[in-house]
Amino acid sequence: MTTLTFPVLQVLADGKFHSGEALAQHFKVTRATIWNAVQHAENLGIEIFSVRGRGYKLPLAINLLDKNAVLKAIGEQRAWFALEVLDEVDSTNTYLMQNKHAAHATCVAAHVQTNGKGRRGRTWVSQLGASLTFSLLWRFQCGAAALSGLSLCVGVALIRALRDFDVNTAQLKWPNDVLVEGKKLAGILIELQGDLEGPSAAVIGVGINLNLPKNVLESIDQPAIDLASVKVIDQNALLGAILKHMADVLSGFETNGFVGLRDEWLRYHAYENKPVRMLLPNGTDVQGVVKGVAEDGILLVETALGLQRFSAGEISLRGVE
Ligand code: ATP
Repeated sequence: MTTLTFPVLQVLADGKFHSGEALAQHFKVTRATIWNAVQHAENLGIEIFSVRGRGYKLPLAINLLDKNAVLKAIGEQRAWFALEVLDEVDSTNTYLMQNKHAAHATCVAAHVQTNGKGRRGRTWVSQLGASLTFSLLWRFQCGAAALSGLSLCVGVALIRALRDFDVNTAQLKWPNDVLVEGKKLAGILIELQGDLEGPSAAVIGVGINLNLPKNVLESIDQPAIDLASVKVIDQNALLGAILKHMADVLSGFETNGFVGLRDEWLRYHAYENKPVRMLLPNGTDVQGVVKGVAEDGILLVETALGLQRFSAGEISLRGVE
């Protein structure tokens, strides 16, 4: 990794041309060093136009994460959080899972994730300036066994934050996706540490599509959408709002469990009383009509065999047209 890559990208973030010479002068290095920094960015999948006589330019202006702007946007609760903004990391979840001594409420956000994760080893697609990706470590006195329903609570925090920006059409897909127009806007990946009995910690990973190029959205193997198709929101303001709502929701969860948020969750539920297919780990599926969620976040589905209960683990829900 060259340490100049992200400082150079900060300059290029305005979407205008910057000559190699001007960049070299600005950073007091040679043009070859600038070229190396740009090469490294390209190796990370960042597209940079390089035009002889004009210099380097990003396809579009981008808004990058800025720690102070996020802290400001959190408001009064900012003192709760330890916020780190990383330039480049394999996955913010992996980073926090490996950092066993991270303080409660550490949030790690990254400009670039080189190996963003979904559930069951799947990949989360993201791009510099076009995606918000971060993970939050939250420590609980209770054991991991009592954390069922946590991912649903995180969904509520995301919806509340989107509503702060008048994005009122976002809905939740059990157990943990945010949908707009039936397409996936954001994903949540929770990994747990600690004993079943307690204490425990959750690493809560969130990826939100801000403004992904059409070809990237179309490359995703399920319908996906970005926030810019609904509303352009500054990612620092959005992350601040999410963390503020996370603090409220997670404190509430710790005291009352999921049940205190269940009514609100159901108001945002995309598939309430709708026909669905539940894909099971053994490759079979069960069809039915969704009848809400239980007090611990378990999905209730009316099937040919009566009311069945599904816990998140290995199950995928699909709508039936
Ligand atoms: P399931 O409903 O099958 O459990 P999921 O949507 O919960 O799936 P996750 O593990 O949360 O799956 O997320 C990974 C999946 O999300 C990928 O397999 C891909 O289909 C989809 N995906 C990956 N990147 C994005 C993205 N940027 N936007 C929307 N969807 C994405």
